[in-house]
Amino acid sequence: MSNIIGNYVGGSRVNPADGTLQDVFNPSTGEVSGQVRLSKATDLDDTVKVASAAALEWGATPALKRAQVMFRFKRLLEENADKIATTISSEHGKTHEDALGEVSRGIETVEFACGIPHLLKGTFSEQAATSIDVYSVPQALGVVAGITPFNFPAMVPIWMFPNAIACGNAFILKPSERDPSVTLILADLLKQAGLPDGVFNVMQGDKVVVDAILDNPDISAVSFVGSTPVAKYIYTRGTSNGKRVQALGGAKNHMIIMPDADMDQAVDALMGAGYGSAGERCMAVSVPVPVGDKVADELMERMVPLVEKLPVGPPEDTNAAMGPVITKQSLERISSLLQSGVDQGAKLLVDGRSLKVPGHENGFFIGGSLFDQVTPEMDIYKEEIFGPVLSTVRTENYEEAIKLVNENPYGNGVAIFTRDGDAARDCVNRIQVGMVGINVPIPVPVGYHSFGGWKQSLYGSHHIYGPDTIHFYTRLKAITSRWPTGIKSGAQFNFPTMS
Ligand code: NAD
Repeated sequence: MSNIIGNYVGGSRVNPADGTLQDVFNPSTGEVSGQVRLSKATDLDDTVKVASAAALEWGATPALKRAQVMFRFKRLLEENADKIATTISSEHGKTHEDALGEVSRGIETVEFACGIPHLLKGTFSEQAATSIDVYSVPQALGVVAGITPFNFPAMVPIWMFPNAIACGNAFILKPSERDPSVTLILADLLKQAGLPDGVFNVMQGDKVVVDAILDNPDISAVSFVGSTPVAKYIYTRGTSNGKRVQALGGAKNHMIIMPDADMDQAVDALMGAGYGSAGERCMAVSVPVPVGDKVADELMERMVPLVEKLPVGPPEDTNAAMGPVITKQSLERISSLLQSGVDQGAKLLVDGRSLKVPGHENGFFIGGSLFDQVTPEMDIYKEEIFGPVLSTVRTENYEEAIKLVNENPYGNGVAIFTRDGDAARDCVNRIQVGMVGINVPIPVPVGYHSFGGWKQSLYGSHHIYGPDTIHFYTRLKAITSRWPTGIKSGAQFNFPTMS
């Protein structure tokens, strides 16, 4: 096997001579396409030293110069979008268009980072007391790290490092070991954009290197995106070591369909948000919630033929709406969850398990599946399936729909489809979810707002990218200053006040 996927440290690709190798698959053929070298804790510690040295100089570089690197990086991402998308699809399996969409949404957050001089201006209060000025400046933290999931191997890292770097930090990225290659392309492009060596580093690996990140005292902050149990673990261990941590977790996103909804719009939205990227999106809709049996019956009647005909294929098939899932284990887990739904009494209206993609018999493909009559006690409702499965929960009225969503332990995204502004407004006000779509099924905020769920979908108090990210990757310093004026006030022993 010649394709060994290694690290990126100090401005170069490096491949440690030792360390365990783990297979990386092409999900649409089921074949091994490469092997990722899992870093050891000592590799991480060495990399932190490189990053710490680079952070000193980079943090002192004028913000405008840092922004110029981001401008060039943005242009390079655009020029290389096709190559990046092809690499994503070859290890993730998503369609080429979907991968291009991921790159494009990533670029949005780089555009935000290009405005960093403005974002780091701080605040100034002249004459806060006689002859005294007070100002606050956000300063870089030093070395920060990001740990990312498989489902957006380029976009989620880009949610983190451009803003972290623009703020003046050095960054260590630990990508998913299931689709690691694209991060090395991103590293090459940053270097081409003029980023000094050591400011951006990639450490391939698994829990071993994650734990080394969480325990290294010279890493100040950790951004994590992945499943909820791991998010909770990262948050607990990272914060107990005194780090700032934002840990975004899993999801179970509901879509409420009101009786007055535009059904054409709702059906299109459900198809795209439920089955796009084979349901492997943290903002995928997984639970349609029709309000009233009339809406539910019509919805199921319209959805069944569409799901049955859902085109599935490898990334190079331009007709495919979705590709395979990430691994054989994931395929088996989704299949067994489908069976649990049947066994626990849900109605499986479309069963994707028998799907075969000609010429790709060993690929990790599964067709779209549609359940009706799901109840909250069933495993298919409780578990994040992370596959192309919609589990419909019927509700009698709007209040029941709101209660269902609010009682779910996750709170990433929710959508309401309605023509009733009053209902939509009430939903926005009362729903216990971080990101809400009104007739928008995947309400991922644009790059100049911030992204984050509530409840078990986010541990920590900062959302990711956008304005919140600037607070996360910097710390404020408040300066109170007085220059000699010639006025003598003598020693003051009381606590200083305005008078
Ligand atoms: P995952 O939690 O298995 O892995 C995420 C990262 O954590 C990877 O880099 C992995 O190497 C590392 N990791 C895995 N197990 C670990 C352990 N025991 N200890 C330490 N590190 C560990 O997630 P995944 O399967 O790669 O991605 C899918 C999950 O990510 C889904 O739950 C999805 O909802 C979630 N996700 C959430 C968001 C969001 O913004 N909230 C975005 C994308 C994905």
